[in-house]
Amino acid sequence: MERFDSVVPVRTWAHAVVTGGAGFVGSHLCTALLDQGAAVTCVDDFCTGNPDNVAHLMDRPGFTLLHADVTKPFEVKRPADLVLHFASPASPADYLRLPLHTLETGSLGTRNALALARRHDARFLLASTSEAYGDPQQHPQNERYWGHVNPVGPRSVYDEAKRFGEALTTAEAGANGTDTGIVRLFNTYGPRMRGHDGRAVPTFIRQALAGEPLTVTGDGTQTRSLAYIDDTVRGILAMAGSDLLGPVNIGNADEITMLDLAQKIIQLAGSRSTVEYIDRPADDPAVRCPDITLARGKLQWTPVVPADEGLIRTIDWFRHQAA
Ligand code: NAD
Repeated sequence: MERFDSVVPVRTWAHAVVTGGAGFVGSHLCTALLDQGAAVTCVDDFCTGNPDNVAHLMDRPGFTLLHADVTKPFEVKRPADLVLHFASPASPADYLRLPLHTLETGSLGTRNALALARRHDARFLLASTSEAYGDPQQHPQNERYWGHVNPVGPRSVYDEAKRFGEALTTAEAGANGTDTGIVRLFNTYGPRMRGHDGRAVPTFIRQALAGEPLTVTGDGTQTRSLAYIDDTVRGILAMAGSDLLGPVNIGNADEITMLDLAQKIIQLAGSRSTVEYIDRPADDPAVRCPDITLARGKLQWTPVVPADEGLIRTIDWFRHQAA
């Protein structure tokens, strides 16, 4: 199945709609799009995001904040040429707390965001996830791998919602000719993550800055690949600007064990914290690393922010928040 045979056109946007725009990734996307001269409507129900994440944008010309739950049909006030569908609880702590809302946002929410794109004849981009690969049996994961997901495990509310969203997006393109794309984001970190959202980087940084033990799950040998938010945003906008259907992996291929990550954060934060081992959650993937050959080749995208630099920027942001 060859679905990635296009050349990347350069595109700018008049008006982009970002669902989940008051969340971590979405708020950085809103900023980047405004910086590129687009008007931006940020649509969010604040179930895991926060208006504070876009407070710095409220006075910028062209920025609109729309408080709406995308599981219900929604409309924007001016013609849109891009819809970035990023609404979804994303951290395990959030989607385990909001299981039905997560499933409904991935299904009904994706349907409503696709309908908006269709009405406006806009390009649509779905934020999917490396979780679509589940606990992978292939390593690293390329886009042709179908994944290894437990459909009734605790994480399934997120994994299966995203897999359904991918199916819906693909069907919409085929059935109605809507211009759609899918990005599979791997773990991304940076400023505006929440210290208590349960994800490794903000948890470790919060603990390191408080001088508490860093809680490493299992024996800490499980791996993740971590991309800094600026790299991820560039990748997302490169995919938006292409006419690729995807899915396309966007992530950093530098893999790190959770124990090494904890120790690196202790060192970069200048902390005296120690490491404490706690139980590993059910269905937690043992390895996770993207094959980004496709993004490199078709989007001319590659991550450039070194881990130490991204972590220092993130630690500085958390330190500033705590001050
Ligand atoms: P986040 O929780 O910070 O942001 C999600 C935003 O969506 C929040 O502002 C939340 O209030 C909003 N939202 C959720 N359900 C909604 C609904 N029904 N209607 C309106 N708004 C709703 O999470 P994030 O890390 O910024 O993730 C953003 C997107 O990127 C998600 O779709 C996630 O699956 C995807 N993603 C993120 C990562 C990552 O490492 N951060 C990795 C893979 C995929």
